Amino acid sequence: SGSRSAVGGAAPRGQLKGKRKVLAEPSGAEMLTVDKRRREGEVAEGGGAGSLGEAVRQARLRFAPSVQDFKYNKKRVRLVSQDSYLKDAAKGVVYWMSRDQRVQDNWAFLYAQRLALKQQLPLHVCFCLVPKFLEATIRHFGFMLKGLQEVAEECQELDIPFHLLIGFAKDVLPAFVVGRGIGGVVTDFSPLRVPMQWVEDVKERLPGDVPFVQVDAHNIVPCWVASDKQEYAASTIRRKIHDRLSEFLTEFPPVIKHPYPSAAPAEPIDWNACHASLQVDCSVKEVTWATPGTAAGLAVLESFIGERLKSFGTDRNNPNRAALSNLSPWFHFGQVSVQRAILEVQKYRSKYKESVDGFIEEAVVRRELADNFCYYNRNYDKVEGAYNWAKTTLKLHAQDKRSHLYELKQLEEGKTHDPLWNAAQLQMVHEGKMHGFLRMYWAKKILEWTRSSEEALKFAIYLNDRYELDGRDPNGYVGCMWSICGIHDHGWTERAVFGKIRYMNYAGCKRKFNVGQFERRYDPHQLGQ
Ligand SMILES: Cc1cc2nc3c(=O)[nH]c(=O)nc-3n(C[C@H](O)[C@H](O)[C@H](O)COP(=O)(O)OP(=O)(O)OC[C@H]3O[C@@H](n4cnc5c(N)ncnc54)[C@H](O)[C@@H]3O)c2cc1C
Repeated sequence: SGSRSAVGGAAPRGQLKGKRKVLAEPSGAEMLTVDKRRREGEVAEGGGAGSLGEAVRQARLRFAPSVQDFKYNKKRVRLVSQDSYLKDAAKGVVYWMSRDQRVQDNWAFLYAQRLALKQQLPLHVCFCLVPKFLEATIRHFGFMLKGLQEVAEECQELDIPFHLLIGFAKDVLPAFVVGRGIGGVVTDFSPLRVPMQWVEDVKERLPGDVPFVQVDAHNIVPCWVASDKQEYAASTIRRKIHDRLSEFLTEFPPVIKHPYPSAAPAEPIDWNACHASLQVDCSVKEVTWATPGTAAGLAVLESFIGERLKSFGTDRNNPNRAALSNLSPWFHFGQVSVQRAILEVQKYRSKYKESVDGFIEEAVVRRELADNFCYYNRNYDKVEGAYNWAKTTLKLHAQDKRSHLYELKQLEEGKTHDPLWNAAQLQMVHEGKMHGFLRMYWAKKILEWTRSSEEALKFAIYLNDRYELDGRDPNGYVGCMWSICGIHDHGWTERAVFGKIRYMNYAGCKRKFNVGQFERRYDPHQLGQ
């Protein structure tokens, strides 16, 4: 129909896209004004004044008045539904927020607002809160809910109703769409099987005439653009990503105060009742060092740039030094955009070249490689998903005698013979974040001390997902698979149990950093273990 506007990016195979109707631009000064009272940038974690938050707000405004005045790169978008046209009688557009839990610097949110502005329709944000998710505990749900509360407040300031729908998306989102006469649904992207299934389930249940699109708002280079296959290693994806950065690593336009209000507002949310109603394990306590939400995450980014970036290049493998960004919890929950972090960090390249290049390697190449692995390998968390050389060598050494064998409980309580391993485990249990270097050592020792590589992988993923605040992430599955199954690595000198899988040992750690200092910091007696 000539009166409808296409919402999608890449159409499903075999479908031709029709003519796109050019709709009148909404006018009026109001839509160009971003509410000055925005919370982003106020005082947050680490006592930072939040000047970065204000600086990025200004940068967005300088870049474009709104997403409508910006040439949106449609390669970020792909069509999930068959139909790609908004129906004439549509009463609104929905952004179904899932992985990317932030308002600004979010390509999915921006795309939804762009559609709504073009069609002069209200914009809604829905988040579907499930009572249980993949071993997540109150540590994770608490962090997420407080971040969402900030999202809801920001949405309110922008006249965009935020709806917290309780239940699985397939059960609550289609009913919302039908009930409100929504004309199009935009969601974000995760390569993990559970959220991929949620998208499939919603697709099945949405009315056939409601177009549904997905935007990769997590990766800088969209996962399906970076590569159309499982990449073998960082060396094979690095160039593909770097070659695309000039196209995708742009500033963001702002999400603006929405000029087309909804007739029916969102139901008020009782966040405390919501917190209390969760059916999750409350024995893994919330952490105090990491304040949830975008404002706090941007303050951590600011403190990284001001205090730790200079030593990231030289000290990032030393668990006694404060050289890491610490941003993984905010990245994992999508509270801070990695693209924003890179835009800010790369400004310091002439000053700290080694550090900035190292950070881009970790946060872009390694992280996007992890999404690539999970997207193209359905066995991303199983030994079956490993390369043949790794499966063969692990099988050959399956019967090798283990020097120590531990049950899950002993590992969980940090009661092995190795004080460094125990200290790393306790750091994770108490703080929700183990140092990146030790995560490799930690997982490799689980391979050494359990009955099989299958058991090792199961235990490592269980512990990682239960205690790490950034757990249940493609980076976590790939980190465990790298350590235990040689994913993205190559064969090394053959030895017992490991076969050709890369080995790490205590003596090697001692050569790299002061192991005793780390062990004293996470002494089980002091931690009351
Ligand atoms: C066994 C094991 C388990 C892991 N589990 C997780 C996990 O559950 N969640 C998670 O986000 N990361 C995981 N990692 C990857 C990495 O250790 C963490 O991302 C990092 O330690 C987080 O701290 P940071 O943000 O201070 O890192 P920084 O060193 O400051 O890095 C910045 C960002 O780069 C990305 N990054 C860093 N290292 C890697 C890597 N090796 N692979 C992919 N991306 C990387 C992360 O997004 C990180 O936040 C795991 C690694 C291993 C070996």
